[in-house]
Amino acid sequence: MSFTELGLSPKVLAAVEAAGYTTPTPIQEQAIPHVLQRRDVLGIAQTGTGKTAAFTLPMLTLLEKGRARARMPRTLILEPTRELAAQVQENFDRYGTNSGLSVALLIGGVSFGDQDAKITRGVDVLIATPGRLLDHVERGKLLLTGVELLVIDEADRMLDMGFIPDIERICKLVPFTRQTLFFTATMPSEIKRITDQFLHNPVQVEVSRPATAATTIIQALVHTRSGPPEKRITLRRLIRSAENLQNAIVFCNRKSEVAILHKSLVRHGFGAVALHGDMDQRSRMAALESFRNGEMSILVASDVAARGLDIPEVSHVFNFDVPVHADDYIHRIGRTGRAGRAGWAFTLVASADGKHVSAIEALTGNKIPFTGDPPPIEGDAEEEISERPRRGRRERGAKKDEGERSQRAKPRDARPAREPRPEREPRSEREPRPEREPKPRPEREPRPEREPRPEREPRPEREAEETPRAARHAPAPQQRPPEQQRPHRRRHDDDDGPVVIGLGDHVPSFLLNPIRRKSG
Ligand code: AMP
Repeated sequence: MSFTELGLSPKVLAAVEAAGYTTPTPIQEQAIPHVLQRRDVLGIAQTGTGKTAAFTLPMLTLLEKGRARARMPRTLILEPTRELAAQVQENFDRYGTNSGLSVALLIGGVSFGDQDAKITRGVDVLIATPGRLLDHVERGKLLLTGVELLVIDEADRMLDMGFIPDIERICKLVPFTRQTLFFTATMPSEIKRITDQFLHNPVQVEVSRPATAATTIIQALVHTRSGPPEKRITLRRLIRSAENLQNAIVFCNRKSEVAILHKSLVRHGFGAVALHGDMDQRSRMAALESFRNGEMSILVASDVAARGLDIPEVSHVFNFDVPVHADDYIHRIGRTGRAGRAGWAFTLVASADGKHVSAIEALTGNKIPFTGDPPPIEGDAEEEISERPRRGRRERGAKKDEGERSQRAKPRDARPAREPRPEREPRSEREPRPEREPKPRPEREPRPEREPRPEREPRPEREAEETPRAARHAPAPQQRPPEQQRPHRRRHDDDDGPVVIGLGDHVPSFLLNPIRRKSG
């Protein structure tokens, strides 16, 4: 089937051709004609299937008739995150160049004033995250009573992020007679309830996952010791010896780890950017853009920050942490091996990660092979010393160690790394030598990475991305439950920022590393 058979307007067809698309994807082929017939559509599809164009192209066609009125957008698209919202706007910019339509973005992190001004002039397409949209409605600057078409995108992710109450509220603010397009990758019962309530006799369109792991993604597990510094060494070695590496996403389970790892990679000379929920909007967009345009070749990200983003042609995925939820593994590795291209997915596995790996293997139905040798037994002091960069021979020594190991691994196409800067290393990498630390000192130098992790980890970034209103208005808990009270631990695993010791930013330098000072 070709695009010309779908019923799109000549203007939109010209834009599709200009974008270089020749054949509609299955979701486009199945959804577009129904959207143009004003039917409600329930699309079960994940990102990478071409679902964004499946709603933007027919919307552009439908919007050619009629014009926008002040404060009353004609169509509304809800996205769970700012990046996804911005990505949809890019789609409208790309396919709607000649349409003369006005598109506005309502997302957190952008000033209300500019957004208000645009809405007041009248918009054809309003793309919004739920919380920010409701803020504008409450301020009386925005009326949803003119919405003819409502798109709810990535609904299952909205559910994960606690946005369902906001979505229900918004659905009640738009006219009952509007057309609704609803996209979700999965159909948990809560989503089913919403679709039953808010879609009218929808056409259900379901497409399978894009290019699957089986044929195009080479997956491997890589043994690593469990501490973050050791994992960073393993990762650097892996990146340097990776075959055909063009660009890579490195996934971490926590946003705090994203920030630390990013700094570390940059310090070691890698062209890396970070993406996590606590970055401001401008830095997120800048990071993503420099990765997209190839200026930076490594993107360090959390699941939440990266999910759903349109990042084409990633050659490698590295899982710095084994994902706690097996379905995140599928999402992560789905970033590579797209459209029949070869892709590589490496997962760092420490001794405690076994059960998560088993869950992934159970979900995918495949045993993932290990590559390389298992590390020495944990706690082997000699090995630990040789792996850790030491004072005086810090960088040179560490690089030599790594270099020797990658030589043994016979790397091909190893990425040249710029010489690391000679300055101080991040604190997290300058751990004292084990033999010089006779007793653990939990009060001064907690080592959060060594603490046992909870069985099922929270996904802290979810709230930071765009906060559901219910959560924003909830009173702050006065006291944490007893099992969470840890007076000596100054930072939580899911706190932000790269600070690993607990004395904060204002510690006199002589206190920063007392053990090292004594020994030096
Ligand atoms: P999406 O699932 O909307 O995130 O789209 C995934 C990627 O597929 C994006 O990079 C689109 O630009 C691209 N794409 C969408 N439709 C087509 C098509 N018909 N042919 C080729 N690429 C497409």
